[in-house]
Amino acid sequence: MQERDIFDERQETKTANFSCPNCRERSDYDVRWVTRRKKKRPPGNLNPHERAQFEKSRDYMVRVDDMLMCKNMRCRKRFEIPSSQSVVFI
Ligand SMILES: [Zn+2]
Repeated sequence: MQERDIFDERQETKTANFSCPNCRERSDYDVRWVTRRKKKRPPGNLNPHERAQFEKSRDYMVRVDDMLMCKNMRCRKRFEIPSSQSVVFI
């Protein structure tokens, strides 16, 4: 059984406010995430182990973007998203 048998996958964009480490300017940035929401029903023909795995699976999202480009036209430097959380349970 694979992740795609358990979850419906969807790409979403969430806005977050970051300040550029180079020029210190704050802006809103669109950050892409993939959300994996558990299917309403488990797939057919699961063995007991797989069924247990399905039952204990929780919805979560994974951050796609690691880097952003500063929106300040005089800067435009790339910087890493200053958050260690790249996987979040929903
Ligand atoms: Zn900057």
